[in-house]
Parts: sequence; structure tokens; C-alpha cells
Amino acid sequence: GAWLGMLGGGQLGRMFTHAAQALGYKVCVLDPDQDSPAGTVADRHLCAGYTDDAALVAMAQQCAAVTTEFENVPAQALDRLEQLGAFVAPRANCVSIAQNRIAEKKFFAACAPKTGVSPAPHWVIEHQADIDQLPADLLPGILKTARMGYDGKGQARVTTREELAAAWKAMQHVPCVLEQMLPLAYEVSVLAARAADGSTATWPLAENVHRDGILFSTVMPSSSVSPDVADKARAAAAIVTGEMQYVGVLAIEFFVLKDGTLVANEMAPRPHNSGHITMDACETSQFEQQVRATARLPLGSTRQHSAGKMLNVLGDVWYEFGLEREPAWDAVVGHAGAKLHLYGKADARPGRKMGHVNCVGASPDEAAAAFEHAAVTLGITL
Ligand code: ATP
Ligand code: MG
Ligand code: MG
Repeated sequence: GAWLGMLGGGQLGRMFTHAAQALGYKVCVLDPDQDSPAGTVADRHLCAGYTDDAALVAMAQQCAAVTTEFENVPAQALDRLEQLGAFVAPRANCVSIAQNRIAEKKFFAACAPKTGVSPAPHWVIEHQADIDQLPADLLPGILKTARMGYDGKGQARVTTREELAAAWKAMQHVPCVLEQMLPLAYEVSVLAARAADGSTATWPLAENVHRDGILFSTVMPSSSVSPDVADKARAAAAIVTGEMQYVGVLAIEFFVLKDGTLVANEMAPRPHNSGHITMDACETSQFEQQVRATARLPLGSTRQHSAGKMLNVLGDVWYEFGLEREPAWDAVVGHAGAKLHLYGKADARPGRKMGHVNCVGASPDEAAAAFEHAAVTLGITL
């Protein structure tokens, strides 16, 4: 069979690999970790750094097409693979935008005349003078590093210019963005896919709840969002992928403000934790769609056939049960509609994403009941 390449060996790469293998592909994973979740299920594991040239040459020789699951994959690795003749989706320029909040906000703002959706009011902080010149109405705000932040890391909430200066110093004066603190009603995301021929598809809106900065649960379709806001967000996601000439699966996070305004927060150039529910609630999962886009197959239907609610399983669950034994998976999967997905990670640490439970049903209430059962069974307080 044909080979697909995957840069990154985490759980997103693992679920991609499973989807690719189901469609008859073999997968070659590049990841420096010997025991990575994707590397251990791949048909070939290149155990090397993302810019290791011998590994990139080996991948390009084996794979006609390559994709990524790792948001911070060096753009130079994607460029190099393309130069070696591989079809690379998404391309380096798209990944670069998503890796830098300054570029990302600039891009969202440039798309706003078409999407009708803007980024949060913000100010780039690269020099001390930027703090002095900050418009006063952007405070209180959240200072975010331009690069590498995730799960709320690399952020500080500030109320005054003095606090902002101190927070920026604590971040070693790296390039940052100060965002106005917005009155959020709830958070949603849209998973979008775009094929090389320009066709696009979006899934229903996902509504996300975070705990300690980490995604806790996702409901699909969002029960809070109005149909017109949902349409606007899905259309915006499709426009954004088109404007970037993006190929692959892209996630966009939006805030919905108390007055109903949609705000574009950030994007991820890959499948996303909030899209895991598509594995069991939709005709085509985000991972199968990434396989299709990478392999230049037609995109699959994103129709949702079951109501869904996803529960993230973090390493904390093992501490509830005592580290010497596994959580009660049998009781979890014993409930109708509970679909367990574990990532094969050996060491459970607090905050580490170990798996998720997709809870599905004929109605949102049924999915919610399965969700509640899973959470209670795993000792997760609701
Ligand atoms: P992720 O793990 O999703 O990549 P991240 O670390 O990149 O997270 P953001 O998504 O930008 O960070 O912010 C984390 C959370 O902080 C958001 O989900 C939201 O709850 C809150 N937040 C971020 N920006 C704002 C804002 N401008 N106003 C109010 N709340 C905000
Ligand atoms: Mg982020
Ligand atoms: Mg986020």
C-alpha cells in the first residue's frame, strides 16, 4: 500500500495512524521519543529530531505525502520535505501563521472583512515603549507569549501597566501580545477541512469547557450557540482555510461574548482535542479527514449522526484510583454510548492527556447521561 508520513508522535498522530491504516495506508512517523503514542503503532518509526536531515530524506523517499500533528513542527522541516518531492499538507506558511499569535491575529484581522469575525482587541509587546504606548482601554488584559503557549501556559492576567511590565519581564521580554480581557459567555471551536482541490468541509460547532487551562469537556453540537452564530463561525472557518490555501484539518477557537459577538481566538494547524468527538458522533472523523486531505482523496461527509459529549481523561484520574492499578475502564465502557480511547502512554502525570471518553446517544440528554456516568466512575467531580 501507499505510505503517508506524520511529523510528530503524540496522540493526534496515533489516531491519524489508526485512521490511515483502516483506509489501507502505511504510516511513517517521525518523532524523537522511542515510546511515542504514534511511533509505537506506526508501520515505521523514524526516531530522530524534526530537522534531522537523514530522517527527512528517508521520510520523503518512503512517503508520497506528509502531514503533521505537532503545532510547533519547524517550518523548515515542512519546506525540506516539499523540496525533497513530498506533497506536504498543511504547507509551512500556514503552520507558521498558527505558530505565532502576532501573525495569527494579523491574519484573522485581514480576513475580518470577509468573515465578519475579528480577533480580540490587542497590542503587540516587543519593546518597553509598547507598554508605555498601550491604549488604556486594553486593560485589564491577558499577556500571552507569541510562541509556544498552550493549555494556558505562557499567560499572565494583568490589571495595570506596572503589572504588565512585571509580567513581561517574568517572560524574559520575549515577543508577546496583550489582549483585552473579554466578557466570555462560552467558548466554541470549529473543525474545518480543506482538500487540495479547494473543497472545504466543517463539522458542527463544538462547545468547550476548560479546567485549569486544559480542555475538560466538549459538547457537539454546541447547545448554547444560536443557529446564526453557528453558521457564521462555520463560514468564517471555511473562509480562513481558503484564504490560507490550507490543505488538511484546521481547528479555530472562538469566544462568544455575552452580547453574542464572535471573536476569533486562535487556530491549530491540525486535528484538535475538541474534535475528538467526531470519531464517534460523525460520519467522518477529523483524523480520517486528515488522511483523506493528505492522501488527496475526496473529503468525507461531516454529518453528525449522534449527539456527543467528550470527557478528557487526564493523568489525575490515576491518582484518584491509586497509581498501582488502572482506572475502572470496564465500568466506563459498560455504559451504553461510552466509547473509550486511550493513547498508550505509560506514565500518568497530573494534567497529562492520557485518553478521552466519547459519549454518544440519540439525544443530547443521552450523551450527557453517559458523560456523567463516565466522569463519576473515574472519580472526576462535575
Ligand atoms: P490552548 O491549550 O487552547 O492552545 P492557549 O494556552 O493557547 O490554550 P488561549 O486559548 O489563548 O491559550 O487562552 C486560554 C484560555 O484563557 C481561553 O480558553 C479562555 O478561557 C481564556 N482567555 C484567553 N484569552 C482571553 C481573553 N482575551 N479574554 C478572556 N478570556 C480569555
Ligand atoms: Mg493555543
Ligand atoms: Mg486555546
